[in-house]
Parts: sequence; C-alpha cells; structure tokens
Amino acid sequence: MRLAGLRIAFVSVFAGTVSYCVDHAALEKAVRTQLSLSAEQALQRESLPFREIKDLEKNFLDEFHRIDSLPDARQSLAHDFDAIFYRHPDGSYTQRPGLFEGGPLPEGRRFPNMSATYAPDVPPNDDVKARFALSYVLSYHYGSAMKGRFFNFYGVVPEKGFPIYQAADIAKVFKYEGPDALRLETYEFYSRGFGQTHSETFFTSLYWDASNAAWMTTIATPDAPDASGKHRIMACVDLLLDGLMQRTARPVLPGAHSTIFAADNDGTLIFDGNYADAITHSEGRASIASLRLAAYRPLLDASRRLAPGAVALVDGGGEIVAVGRIPETPWVLAVRYPKSLMKPAILTNIAIVFTVALLTLLVEIVILRSILQKQMAEPLRRLMLATELVGHAGVTFNADELPTQSQDEIGQLARDFAGMAERVRAAQDALEQKVATRTSELEQLNMRLLKVSMTDEMTGVANRRAFDQALVSGLTRVGRDRGLLMLAMIDVDWFKHYNDRYGHPAGDACLRSVAAILTANVRRDHDLVARYGGEEFAVLAQIAGSDDALAIGQALCAAMEQASIEHEHSPLGHVTLSIGMAVAEADDPTPPEELLLQADRALYRAKREGRNLVVMADRRRGRAAQTAP
Ligand code: GH3
Ligand code: MG
Ligand code: MG
Repeated sequence: MRLAGLRIAFVSVFAGTVSYCVDHAALEKAVRTQLSLSAEQALQRESLPFREIKDLEKNFLDEFHRIDSLPDARQSLAHDFDAIFYRHPDGSYTQRPGLFEGGPLPEGRRFPNMSATYAPDVPPNDDVKARFALSYVLSYHYGSAMKGRFFNFYGVVPEKGFPIYQAADIAKVFKYEGPDALRLETYEFYSRGFGQTHSETFFTSLYWDASNAAWMTTIATPDAPDASGKHRIMACVDLLLDGLMQRTARPVLPGAHSTIFAADNDGTLIFDGNYADAITHSEGRASIASLRLAAYRPLLDASRRLAPGAVALVDGGGEIVAVGRIPETPWVLAVRYPKSLMKPAILTNIAIVFTVALLTLLVEIVILRSILQKQMAEPLRRLMLATELVGHAGVTFNADELPTQSQDEIGQLARDFAGMAERVRAAQDALEQKVATRTSELEQLNMRLLKVSMTDEMTGVANRRAFDQALVSGLTRVGRDRGLLMLAMIDVDWFKHYNDRYGHPAGDACLRSVAAILTANVRRDHDLVARYGGEEFAVLAQIAGSDDALAIGQALCAAMEQASIEHEHSPLGHVTLSIGMAVAEADDPTPPEELLLQADRALYRAKREGRNLVVMADRRRGRAAQTAP
C-alpha cells in the first residue's frame, strides 16, 4: 500500500508537471490565436459603419457636383433657396416654419426633419443660394436614407451655413447674435475641413454630446478644392460612439478588455475603461502621451507599422495585446488579455489531471488487491491449510480444494504439492501396514516365547514356573469363588532303576509318555498338568468336592497302569505312579507352600506305603489318608 501511495504521488506530480507545461504552451497558443482572430473580426466589424459613412459622403459630394455643374439646375436651386429659407432680421437664414415638421413647399415637396442654419458674412449670391439649397435637398436624401443607423447628415457650405437632417430642429437651437451665437469657424470640422487643401475624410476630436449623453465624433469629407484652394461643400456625419464603446468594453474573449486610441503622435485616447474619467475631464484630449502610459507606448508604436485591418500581438506587462488599425478610421483597437487569466484554466486542468490520476490509480489498487486476493492470497491459504493437514496421521485433505487448475506458478506449486502429499500418504500407508505386520509377528513371537517360558521343553506340559503362577492364582480364585482347588503331586515309581535298565533316552521317552497320559486324563480347558522337576509332575484342578480329588488321582494311577509301560526293574513290572493330594478350601485359606507341603507329605506316604498309591492329605489331623488305585 505504501508503494502504491508513492506511485500515486509520483504519477500525479509527473502528470501535473507535464500537464502544466503542455497546458501553458497550448493555452497561450490558443489564446494568442483567438485573440488575434477576434481582434481582426472586431476591426472589420467596427470599420463597416465608417466605410458606409465615407461612401455616403463621397456619393453625396459626387451628386452634389454633378447637379451643381448643370447650369439649369443652378437657376432652379436659387429659386428653391428662396422657397425653402427665409431671412431673419439679423441677416441669418433658417428653413421656413413648418417644413421641419413635414409641411410641403408650394410645389408640394416635403423635407421632414430637415433644418438649416446659415449666418453669412455677406448676403448670399445665386451660387451660394444654389449650393445651400442643393445641400438641403441632398442632405435630406442621404440623411433619410441612413435614418436610424447614424445620428445625422449635413452638407456644410464654407459661407458658414449647413442644412442638416436630424431629429432636432437646429434652427431653434442656435442663436446668431450675442455671446451664445453659433460661430461656425470655431468648430473643428469647419476649420479643419475648409482649412485643408485636399478632400480626405477626417475625424474630429471626440466631443461629449450632452443631449445624447454620449461621446461623438464628426466624420467630415470636403469636396476637392478649386485652383485657388476654395471648397464649395463638405459632407458631415456626426457619429454617436456609445455602441462602439460598449462593444469595445466587452470584447468577444472573456476577461479581455479593449482600448481605442488615435494613431496620432500622442495616441489620443478614444476609449479606455481605466481612463474614462481622464478622457471626460480632458474633454476627449487625454492621450497615451499626456497620461504617460508607458505600457501603451509599444502598442502605439506597433500600430504605426500595421496596415489597416492587420493585427499584431504585443507581449508585455503581464498581458498579450492584439493591436490593429480599424480600417477607414484613424483609430487603433487594442484588445488586451491578462496572462493571469490563463492560470485558473491551467490549474483546473492540473486539478483534473491529479484527480483522474488519483482515481485511476485507486481503481488500479482495488483491482490489483482483488486480483492478488483471488489469485495469490486465497490459493496460498488453501495450500497452507493443506500443508498443515499433510503428515497428521488419519487426517486427509481434499486435493480438489487445492488451486491446481491455475496456470500460474501457484498452480504449479499446488500440483507439485498435491503429488508430494499423495506420495507422503502412500509412504504413510505402507509404513502403517509394515508396522501392523511387524506388530502381529512380534505378538506371535511373544506368545510363543511366553508359551516356551511356561512349557517344559522335554514333555510339552507346563513347567515349574507356570505351575507356581497357576498355584497362586488358583488359590486366589478359590478364595473369591468360594470353590475347592485340588493339588496332586505325582512321582514315577522306581524311575532310577528305569534309567538304569533302559538308559536315559528311554527314561526321557517314558517321562514324555507319563506327561501325555496325565494330560489326556484331565479336563483340557480347566486343569493344569505341569512337570514339577525330574520325574515328578503336578496337577491343579478346580473341583466341586473333596471326593472329586481322590477320584481324579485314582483315575490318573489307573490310566498309567493301563498304559502298561514295561519296567522290568519295578516289583510291579510296569511303570506306575505314586500320588499325594491336598485340597484348598475357600473358608480355610491356605498359602501355596502349605498346600505343597501337604501334598508332598501325602506323596511321601504313598511311597512309603508301597507305591502305585493315591494318598489324600488329612488336613485336620495333619496326616495323609491312604488309598489304593
Ligand atoms: P522311588 O520309587 O522311591 O521314587 O524310587 P526312584 O528311583 O524313582 O527315586 P530316586 O529319587 O532315587 O530316583 C529318581 C531318578 O529319576 C534319578 C534320576 O536319574 C531319574 N531322573 C530324574 N530326572 C530324569 C530325567 O529327566 N530323565 C531320566 N532318564 N531320568 C531322570
Ligand atoms: Mg522322585
Ligand atoms: Mg520316583
């Protein structure tokens, strides 16, 4: 997880840095292109009304000259002058009452919204009258044609008068005498237009039009002067700049702001949101020079090198500025885009890159974790569980639960492990089988050993050790079961002589015969025949009563006699037995030595009293009772 965290941090920082560099370059390039394009469009758009005004004025002047040069027309225009205007007592002229409001001339023509002011220095001659009347008629035509789009239209005669097409009656505005009198020669359009010796269109300085609460400029085109340098007419349009200024204040590019200044020496400001007050207070004369706007200087310089309509990008002061001359005007439009505006966009992009990087890596970790869990942890857990089970005796595991189907290293490990576990299990089974066999062999050997250790080798009946144990346990059982235990001590008669007569090997054979006869005449599963030592045997038997003991003894003697084994050196002629018997009772506990002693004494008696006899020990009298076979 720590590694994943580091990876996230590294990728995020790397992606962020790359994104910053790429974004910055790409964004700046995009901004420059867009700025340049939008500035070019703005230049073309803003130039349109000026081009139209210029064309209107040119057409006006052409038509004016065409009609002015017709001799017949002059005469009728002089008459028109008298019909349209009347002379005030002070010598000035205005249009006749009612005409502005749309009243007809005597011959029926109407010129609504036309008014005129004319304060000649000398009374007008026919030429002046014809020009003034012609200006009146044509101003009406051109003014009414552009109604609603431009403010007004007027054709000025150098003799200080102009008919004008506009919404207000100018005849009611201006006075011709006194301190407020209209002094046309003091107006820039008049002095510049008629002061120049060519017919170029020019723009006056800005002026504040109080009635419209807007800045205005006058666009004026005088006719070509004659040889003496005199003009006959000048076409003028006053243009309200509020629309232009509003569009300039809000350029297409969000966050940008624009400045318009004149491409004159000082860079007179036409519009600038930051210096609106300075422009107002200076009555439109504030300039880049007068306000010492060092940052604007490069813009002014750049604009001088540009053809109208062309745009140059100027960098500086934390801004990218698109500068261009508005065609048909003496003005420069500068669209300024602060570079700081790019930062939020870049930061947003970086934030998006960071977020995406984080999300991607988190998803990757989750997927990785689940894959690891599924492909590593879970199979390994199953393997570990199986490992714990392998080797536990009797515990098996299901190999199907191992991830043996996986094709990866864990799958290989699982298959190897399953193989190994199978071999371990087989080895374990074989070992168990071997142990079982060995155990059984050992048990049989032990049984045989036990039997050997309890058997008399020569005769095959129980040996002395087995007899001693059987005597002790027999006495114990008698005490517990409240029964009787019979002991018979049996001695072969005259056996020394037998050996002497027939030899020891025959003596051994005889002893084996005696043992076989004894075994055959006791109860196989209940009674014990043992070789006590030498040619002496003992028989232990559980009996119901004392009489049974005597019967058993006599049966044994009789069986021996009946076998009739030849014994030439015995007075009896064949092998016989002497038997001394003792019986242990439950209500009279007898130690083994005591029982043996009793039986021995009885045997001794049997010998002494002739042999081939059974003698019962008389326990109460301490002597044996004799009985014959
Ligand atoms: P009695 O009637 O008084 O018992 O006379 P006996 O000769 O049987 O008694 P004795 O104790 O004098 O002799 C026992 C003889 O039994 C002596 C010994 O050589 C013989 N004997 C003891 N054990 C064996 C044996 O395992 N094989 C052979 N062949 N003889 C044995
Ligand atoms: Mg003996
Ligand atoms: Mg003997």
